[in-house]
Formats: sequence, C-alpha cells, structure tokens
Amino acid sequence: MRTALLLSVLFSFSFVLRANGEDSYKGPVFDSHLHYSATSWAQYSPGDVLQKLDSANVKTALLSSTPNEGTAKLLAFAPGRMVPGLRPYRNAAEKVAWYKNSELVSYTQTRLATLRHKAFGEVILGYREDLETPQMAQYLAMAEEQNLVLHFHTSAAVIEALFEMRPNLKILWAHAGFSEPPDVITRLLDQNPNLWAELSYRAEDIMGGTDLEPEWKTLLLRHATRFTIGSDTWQNGRWQNYQYLIDQHREWLGKLPQEVAGKIAYQNAEVLFR
Ligand SMILES: [Zn+2]
Repeated sequence: MRTALLLSVLFSFSFVLRANGEDSYKGPVFDSHLHYSATSWAQYSPGDVLQKLDSANVKTALLSSTPNEGTAKLLAFAPGRMVPGLRPYRNAAEKVAWYKNSELVSYTQTRLATLRHKAFGEVILGYREDLETPQMAQYLAMAEEQNLVLHFHTSAAVIEALFEMRPNLKILWAHAGFSEPPDVITRLLDQNPNLWAELSYRAEDIMGGTDLEPEWKTLLLRHATRFTIGSDTWQNGRWQNYQYLIDQHREWLGKLPQEVAGKIAYQNAEVLFR
C-alpha cells in the first residue's frame, strides 16, 4: 500500500517536472471547457478560481455551470475573461432528459434573452434518437438564430446527425468525443468545416509516453485551426488539480511547432468565440 502510494507520488512528481520542462508550451491558454457548478462554490470563491486561472496563465475560458447561476457569478467577477455558455437545465436532475422537456425550452429562451451567451452547453447527449424531439428542434433553431456554438459531449454518430439536420450549426465537440479514435475525428473534421474539437480528457491519448502518438500528431497538424484545449472542472478534484490539467496540455503542445501550439492553446478558441 505504502509502496504504491510512494510510486504514484513519484510518478506525478516526475510528470509535473516533465510538464514544466524546457520544451513545454509556455504561452497563454484559452480553457474552452470550464465549469463553476454549485458543488464548487463553498470550496472555491470566484477570487480563488481567478487565482487558479492566473497561476496557470489561462487568459480566457468558455464557462458553463449547473446551475447557470455559477456562470453568472464568475462572469460578474471577471467579465473580460469568461465566455458564457448556457445549459438548458437548472439542476442535475433535469440534466437527464432536458432534450424532451418543454418547460426547459421556455426557461432557455428566457435565459438567453436576459444574458448574452456565446455557446449552448456543455450538454451531454447519448443517442441520435435524442435529436428527434420537438424540443430539440427548438433548441437547434435557437442556437442557429443566435449564432451560439453548440458545446456537445457526444458520439461521432450524433455529431454527424446534427450536421445532417442543420449544416450551418457551429459545433465544439467536447473531448473530441471522449473515446473516438483519431481516424474518426479526422473524418468528421474533413467533412464538416463548422466543427471544432476540444481536447479535455485527451492529453494522455495524445501523448502516452514521451512523445506524441503518431496518428494524433498527423491529425493535429492536418487540422491545426480546429482544435482547442480545456480542463473540464466538473468536480472539485479537477479544480484542485487545475494547474496539472493545464500543464498536461502544455507538455504535448510543446512537441508541436510553436505556431500550431499557439493556435490550439489559445487562438482557435479566440477566433471561434470572438
Ligand atoms: Zn464538462
């Protein structure tokens, strides 16, 4: 037990050393997957959150929260640093079936009318069939009319179905599908010019050992203007390790040409949400 603990401490220590190493990316970061949800409010004040962002040289963030009041709190505290996304639900219970809940359509309309948002989501969607509700048709119409970027955590199949329904949507694909392999991500980016892929939870896929995985390297270079990075602070453990999550990205970004790293770390999200 003690040996395992010691090993894991040594491992994370050596990783941190590597992540802060000479060749890691040192420039500014746009965190395009931030949450400030109710479960974090007691532990981290808006001031604490900003301090974490500052220490990690994170200049801007795409923010969504459960409930949306978390987004409003941080936005009021640091308006120039937060790009607000709207979640079409008010609590964790409503998260399960928001795409077929009419009450939430009017909630979303009201909320969108009162505060200027740039994104719809992050939302999680399991199946293609979930897109076929009348409520979802209303959400997608709203997103298109108001030029909101959809921040969807979903499969490649759902992304493809979304573009079949409405080719003009702009989609930021959370975690690049979480477990979708590089060839699938390549195909979707090739086929859909309005698709961007956000890479929270993917740092270890991109760089398993001491260098970039070859398929990922090819993909990141091929679509250098279409990737963004993020932390996904959905629980306090991820807030606690915030610096580490950003440093993990800095490490693999450092293996790319500087110009490409700068785009993925910051500029692509800036262009998308400007
Ligand atoms: Zn998330």
